[in-house]
Amino acid sequence: MSSQADLMDKVVALAKRRGFIFQSSEIYGGLSGAWDYGPYGVELKRNVKNAWWQSVVHWREDMVGLDAAILMHPKTWEASGHIANFADMMVDCKNPKCSGRFRPDQLKDHKCPKCGGTEFTEPRAFNLMLKTSVGAMEDSSSVVYLRPETAQGIFVNFQNVIDSTHRKLSFGIAQTGKSFRNEITPGNFTFRTREFEQMEIEYFCRPEQALAKYEEWIQSRFSWYIDLGIKKENLKLRVHDKDELAHYAAGCTDVEYNFPFGWSELEGIANRGDYDLKQHAKFSGKDLQYQDPVTLEKFFPHVIEPSGGCDRATLAFMVDAYHEETVNDTLRVVMKFHPRLAPIKVAVLPLLKKNEGIVALAKKIKSELQKDIVCVYDDTAAIGKLYRRQDEVGTVFCVTVDVQSLEDKQVTVRHRDTMQQERIPVENLHRYLKEKLI
Ligand code: ATP
Repeated sequence: MSSQADLMDKVVALAKRRGFIFQSSEIYGGLSGAWDYGPYGVELKRNVKNAWWQSVVHWREDMVGLDAAILMHPKTWEASGHIANFADMMVDCKNPKCSGRFRPDQLKDHKCPKCGGTEFTEPRAFNLMLKTSVGAMEDSSSVVYLRPETAQGIFVNFQNVIDSTHRKLSFGIAQTGKSFRNEITPGNFTFRTREFEQMEIEYFCRPEQALAKYEEWIQSRFSWYIDLGIKKENLKLRVHDKDELAHYAAGCTDVEYNFPFGWSELEGIANRGDYDLKQHAKFSGKDLQYQDPVTLEKFFPHVIEPSGGCDRATLAFMVDAYHEETVNDTLRVVMKFHPRLAPIKVAVLPLLKKNEGIVALAKKIKSELQKDIVCVYDDTAAIGKLYRRQDEVGTVFCVTVDVQSLEDKQVTVRHRDTMQQERIPVENLHRYLKEKLI
């Protein structure tokens, strides 16, 4: 198996070679901090989001979903504290030929990563929000921000959701969507980017329930990654020290993954008290308190916020799935994705692409499977090569149609991880694959 440093290079190379992730606007030299998901990447990332949605919305009784706009009233960001406080410290390299900008906490040995210089300006705060303007006039009244997190879209809709769904505490609202941050030093592939997708939950409860709900969400979010195949030894929880916490927060725990570049945050679960709703009530002048339907008592619910990144999760699933082995003196690269995450579940392959009977049967099988199994038909190379290509994108099963299939109505099913092959009657194929893919 690769060394850690190699591993990242190999995953990045495979991501490009096999159409998972491309650099944004590559033909123009690329744009730093932005990435495009290719044909397999888009399927993988969508599966990650769907698995999250299923787990936190569909499989629970106490959650609903939301899809708020990226652009929000600018007062939102005053209330949330982002305009005043959402900043990283930044230094400039003093070498006039370089003038690189960095976060001082990310400098190794106080050395400029671009030119090796050791002299920097004094650290100063740099707001990470990306600004734009709406409407025809470009004055201060037209300024809006590209949201730096999806969470505020949930808080500002708290009353709308209660009024329209009659939810009682405790309950939560989940949302996925794009967020934007003008990161000073984007890097480590899709780990830190300027445009990314978040998967966020605001879970509202009574103040006295907050600690128990916080603990529950930490366990539930940790298990989600493990259940989808992340190796246990590569995942850990990190409890924030008191001095890392915002003044209103009662606690925060990160789920960290052992990336080749070190243990890094995939998701944070924060116990935020009643800060957010109180702030929005103050800035909007609206009553955002919850009223108990029985006692009629009014109060601000406390909030637990599990906040993860879809791109970071997708990258972790890719790194964790990467597997190499030697088979008959040649290297086999396999992406051992969990079947629910695999971009393609089944590839239907004709053994001889010039045999009309084989091609027709293979295409018929594909068109029947595709109704509820994501599958592809491929005849662009010899079978050995087709298997290797499917292994590299993590396709769970290959179904091969050969001359004998025309007579005995059976096909060969090859398992990705073991490479074992078995003959399955065509009439049982759909049921067989469905059972194995659950
Ligand atoms: P970091 O300390 O790595 O900058 P953060 O603590 O600022 O992250 P949060 O504000 O808690 O991150 O955002 C919640 C989640 O959103 C993160 O756990 C991460 O998965 C994702 N995320 C945040 N910033 C980025 C980014 N620049 N690129 C990709 N994902 C991000």
